[in-house]
Amino acid sequence: MSKFLSDYGALLLLLSIVGTWLTVDFYQEREQIIEESKKLAINKSQLVGSSVGELFLVTDYVLRDIIGRLDVVKDLQLTSKDNERNIHLTAILSEKLETVTGLRDFAVLDRDCRIVATAKSPFIGVNTGQHFCGGVKVSPGQSTHIKYLSADQSISGRSAVLMSRILGTADGIFLGGVVAVVDLALAQKWIEAIHTEANDVLAIMDADGLLLANKPAQPDAIGKPVPVPMAQFFYSRINDPTSFINNSPYDGRRRITGVSKVERFPFITIVGFDYDRVLKAWRYRMWQFATGFLLLCIFAVIALRSHHEALCQRERMRKLATTDALTNIANRRHIMDIGNREFTRARRYTHSLSVLMLDIDKFKFINDRWGHPVGDRVIKELANLLTITARDQDVSGRLGGEEFTVILPHTDTSGAKIIAERLRVVVAEAQGVNLDDNTIVRFTASIGVATLNVEDTSFDMLLQRADRALYKAKENGRNRVESDN
Ligand code: GH3
Ligand code: MG
Ligand code: MG
Repeated sequence: MSKFLSDYGALLLLLSIVGTWLTVDFYQEREQIIEESKKLAINKSQLVGSSVGELFLVTDYVLRDIIGRLDVVKDLQLTSKDNERNIHLTAILSEKLETVTGLRDFAVLDRDCRIVATAKSPFIGVNTGQHFCGGVKVSPGQSTHIKYLSADQSISGRSAVLMSRILGTADGIFLGGVVAVVDLALAQKWIEAIHTEANDVLAIMDADGLLLANKPAQPDAIGKPVPVPMAQFFYSRINDPTSFINNSPYDGRRRITGVSKVERFPFITIVGFDYDRVLKAWRYRMWQFATGFLLLCIFAVIALRSHHEALCQRERMRKLATTDALTNIANRRHIMDIGNREFTRARRYTHSLSVLMLDIDKFKFINDRWGHPVGDRVIKELANLLTITARDQDVSGRLGGEEFTVILPHTDTSGAKIIAERLRVVVAEAQGVNLDDNTIVRFTASIGVATLNVEDTSFDMLLQRADRALYKAKENGRNRVESDN
């Protein structure tokens, strides 16, 4: 049993080492997959950013071009639509509008922020009320401004991003400028055209944290502030591209998200990879391994159990073959084996060796008087007394009937006689066998002692001498010890 426990412990240790190793390995692999996905998400967000940035770069280039072609004194003042300069200006703006896809209109503003010319729309004279109008000090020379306008803020009633290039005097007084109306629908179309896997998201956000475009499209969310936690990555708060894992404020799904600023322009692009999809293959393999490992554990335990079962079975068989069924001490064959072994050993190492031969006195009488079963109980009781009285190195066995032998290794005649005498007294003074009618069956035994001498050529010979001594003990009155030496 203890072998089973120690084998079981070793198996458990081995399995837990393998289990721990697998767990650590899978954990590290998951971390690695997440790290790689974070990098990918950042890269993709930069890619989306670069296409957004490109539109604004081109637009800015065109704005500069238009400003370069303006006659500041004549063009930045409100005139009638039929004015020659105005017609010329409108022609320039219309021509430029054709060159950039994604622009809805161009408008030229005067120093009061009124529209003096447009490429398309009819809003001449309308005050655009831009944030750089109204006496706010502007940077001298030219500067760019980008602003999202929701549908209700826009004079056209359609949401757009306005990109303006404005002019200021050396002391910062606003002179006027040109405004490009960037169509957000185009940004939305772009973003939708970018390949994404199921449940991945893409989004563009402006510097004020307003959502400008996203995939999958959510028209209702456009122009509205992006909810937390995206909002914590507002333009002013991040510098370098960053990534994190979050639950989407829109659909609650867990995502690996990459966020980066669009170079030179006040936009942020967001790419979110679906966490479950990214880890799907990993999860599948983990479950495969976990199941495999579990089966391995079960098989290992079953194999160990059946191995021990076989060992126990073998041990039971061995015990059965070597034990006397009535008394549970060594049977004749086993005691003879042990005797032969001890004989050889004593001969080789010139140790002393003695044997005792015991026989219950008048046993026939016990059988006749109380019956065979009581005789059996007496035999068992004697075996019990032998076991209790014998020293650790002594081996007792039943030769048959009510005859027993005790092998006493490393014991000379005097030692053997002392042990035999002690045994005789123990038997004679024992309580005996208590019957149902309270009759006590007491018994005695006669003991013959023989110690190995030079003439003995086998254990059997030694035993015969002990038997002779036993016969002598019987003859001399029983309940006695006699020696053949
Ligand atoms: P002694 O003092 O001379 O030894 O007299 P005894 O009556 O004991 O004589 P002996 O040793 O010859 O008796 C052996 C008897 O033991 C014969 C047999 O009936 C009985 N016997 C043998 N094997 C068993 C057994 O397994 N159980 C029982 N109950 N009796 C047995
Ligand atoms: Mg006998
Ligand atoms: Mg007898």
